[in-house]
Amino acid sequence: MENTSETVSDCPKKHALATRLVHGATPFDPCTGAISTPIYQSATFRHPGLNESTGFDYSRVVNPTRTELERTLALVENGRYGLAFSTGMGAISSLIKLYKPGDHLIVSEDLYGGTYRLFQEYYALYGFSFSYVDTSDFARTEAALRPQTKALFVETPSNPMMKVTDIRRCAQLIHGRGGHLIVDNTFLSPYFQTPLDLGADIVVHSGTKYLAGHNDTLAGFLVHSQDGLEEGLRNAQKSEGASLSPFDSWLVLRGLKTLALRMERHQASALRIASWLREHPRVGKVFFAGFPDHPQYGISKAQARGFGGMISFYLKNPADAPLLLKNVALILFAESLGGTESLLTYPVVQTHGAIPEQMRLSAGVDERLMRLSVGIEDPDDLINDLAQAFHACGEL
Ligand SMILES: *Cc1c(COP(=O)(O)O)cnc(C)c1O
Repeated sequence: MENTSETVSDCPKKHALATRLVHGATPFDPCTGAISTPIYQSATFRHPGLNESTGFDYSRVVNPTRTELERTLALVENGRYGLAFSTGMGAISSLIKLYKPGDHLIVSEDLYGGTYRLFQEYYALYGFSFSYVDTSDFARTEAALRPQTKALFVETPSNPMMKVTDIRRCAQLIHGRGGHLIVDNTFLSPYFQTPLDLGADIVVHSGTKYLAGHNDTLAGFLVHSQDGLEEGLRNAQKSEGASLSPFDSWLVLRGLKTLALRMERHQASALRIASWLREHPRVGKVFFAGFPDHPQYGISKAQARGFGGMISFYLKNPADAPLLLKNVALILFAESLGGTESLLTYPVVQTHGAIPEQMRLSAGVDERLMRLSVGIEDPDDLINDLAQAFHACGEL
């Protein structure tokens, strides 16, 4: 294995995505034949001599297990460079180091609360400015441009309202100003959407979610294809020190092998459950990107290969929320998403608690809203669990 200066351009891109996910950038260890990437649990590496290196010096900077994962992520996102971080927030934190005080970023208003907190509670104080807009509305996005705008940071589908932003149009818009389009691709994963193919400059992931996929580890990624960005991002990763550990890198490599199977299952079950929820007398509006009457269904069809496994829905009566959260038995009331186990989240207090009330409400995140990450259990068991939990809410 070689170090990170190597891109994945020479890797087996000819194979379909599901195959690339299984075999990764290096299908077997060239030294031993090991099929599972070895975990190089070493903090440091011996130098053969002065000014000589194996390509690996110190694991914060580069580690062979992490390098294999980084190259695999680049391979499956159709990028040239991948960078692995200890969490999604670690990835976003290093990404922001590309910009300087005075720079302005346009950000999807309906986004992961932790990203908002990082931007507002830290970078806004250091002289960066952020405009939060509904990026699924192109006119509003365009109107938010300023002479200092350096990037557009988009979540699509958005968290938790499942709004879909037109990636191609946004890329054209921001490239016209010489800025970057950054896409948080956590919700669809590269199995369903590869934003670099649509003109995005940088893809962000919380690898904690679908990529690792088993609710057992934290990870974050940046993927891109530009030599001009690589030095700055790599330097931020090594300087900030939020690089992914060898063991966690291995867990994500293992998770990726089944990403294609899992995403198909998450999506098929989500479609069934979303349709079932829509008919339930205690449920109001259901938000799922895969409904043909979703306002941006056409955009999803044009830019993605699927709709994912995330559903949000309004309860008709917000007083049902605590009862539902208490009474789900198989489905677990917990933060996070994208794992094998189905999780029910209450965004208003959990994932979006850091967002100020007015902004939260204008995005639609209120006391009625529930978010369901559909796992890979039998979908009938999941529907039965929701049915009994609604039943426990009492008479209508
Ligand atoms: C979870 C999440 C993050 C943050 O990732 P961590 O791994 O928890 O740090 C960022 N963006 C989205 C869309 C997420 O769901």
